[in-house]
Amino acid sequence: MILKKRLFVVMLLIGFCLTMQADKLENYLEPGLASIKPMDPYNYCKTMALPKYAGRLTGHEGYTAAAEWAAGMFCRWGLKPISQKSGYLLEYPSPYTIVDEAEMTFHLPKKSSGSEESATMDISLKLLDDFLPLLFSDSGEHTAGVVFAGWGICAPELGYDDYAGIDPAGKFVLCFRGTPDRREAGFVKHDHHRFRMNMAKSKGALGIIYIYDKPAANPNGDLVPQFTPAVISEKAADKLLAEKNITSVDLRKDLQTYKKPLSFPLNARITYRVVSRHFPEGRGYNIAGYVEGSDSKLKKECLVIGGHFDHCGAHCGLIFPGADDNASGSAVVMELAEAFSKLKKRPKRSVVFVLFGGEEMGLQGSTYFVHHLPSPFEKVDTMFNFDMEGEGDGTVCSHSPDVPGLPEVLKAADEHVGILRRTGQMRAVGVRGSDYAPFFQEGAICVAFFSNGPHLHYHLPGDTIYRINPDIMADIARLAFISSYHWANR
Ligand SMILES: [Zn+2]
Repeated sequence: MILKKRLFVVMLLIGFCLTMQADKLENYLEPGLASIKPMDPYNYCKTMALPKYAGRLTGHEGYTAAAEWAAGMFCRWGLKPISQKSGYLLEYPSPYTIVDEAEMTFHLPKKSSGSEESATMDISLKLLDDFLPLLFSDSGEHTAGVVFAGWGICAPELGYDDYAGIDPAGKFVLCFRGTPDRREAGFVKHDHHRFRMNMAKSKGALGIIYIYDKPAANPNGDLVPQFTPAVISEKAADKLLAEKNITSVDLRKDLQTYKKPLSFPLNARITYRVVSRHFPEGRGYNIAGYVEGSDSKLKKECLVIGGHFDHCGAHCGLIFPGADDNASGSAVVMELAEAFSKLKKRPKRSVVFVLFGGEEMGLQGSTYFVHHLPSPFEKVDTMFNFDMEGEGDGTVCSHSPDVPGLPEVLKAADEHVGILRRTGQMRAVGVRGSDYAPFFQEGAICVAFFSNGPHLHYHLPGDTIYRINPDIMADIARLAFISSYHWANR
């Protein structure tokens, strides 16, 4: 019995050693892999989240100073600068807005036993807990009525109009973010913040008031003159809706179930005051450097390793540090840049490291990059994107469908790391995609990583370095290093 047991253990060991040998990493990857250490990305993440960078709002001096710091790191690692003229920084126009003050008060009709409804109850909303201004709001102060308008969509081409039968002129439009039917591609353009704001403005509204489950910072829009949009919590919205004996959760459910407009005016009124400063001449920067491919032909194709460097800025006395979103992803990109810079044997294709500006404002930096591909390159073969890599204990990955060999490369790389929890296929990119979206639309192969979360402080001042797990960023960097190397070398 004991002998048999020993034999079994020996066989097990031999099996184990054989597997190890089969899976052994190529020696030439060792210097890169050895350079990936958890405290590196953690420290980059911590630096980006510093108050002096003021939440890295693209265009703002805080963003620009942080971009110069990151460019200095690319230089230190010996990456080739992306531009002969401007080095590691690629400039593009980026108007931006800083909101200094915002106050909101509800004037709710008092329930009375009689028919008179003249009495009102005033409730002041708490900034952050109850409401936030949208971070592209114009200055203004109004006391006005409110109309509830479903998803705030007017799409006659689809036979759908949330504005039918209500008059939003001179009022605030209360609505949800989203569309009546997610399967209907025609609704996608209507779900863009810019489109929805302009639609409401064209109907004479004073501002959109979005109902989110809880307020979150949102700089994804352009200033619309004399238009003051905001976001309020479901809990706050329920106070407005109480006069109709309905809750925001039930309203949303009805809209989703019946896919028909459900709009009505309210007796409640809102006073909303915003003080903001707009900077139409703002300049944004993508930060980029590369490792040249070793194949004389294939080096003109590149694999982009990117993530957004920007976040929501500092407004109304609050800083949104964006440690998880997306200092963490930027830190992984930087760690990968350093790892690739250590390699003697470079992959066949060039690998370009890009920290994008303006993602939070609507994928502006990545869109600009795709449409102004820097001259060393003729095409982007593949894009690896990193957005929110700092919270959790594993990673989720989605990638372009039907790319022979790609799932195998990812899986083989994960055998050395063991953090890939789930993979999925990108079918189409909607309004909420990250920086891979413009690459996907241009036909590049895309791979997107997200740590498995829970990302509880998404777009809130609580997204701080104290929530960041150094090991998860290093593990994601290891997985991405091995897989992107093999993919760029195919
Ligand atoms: Zn993000």
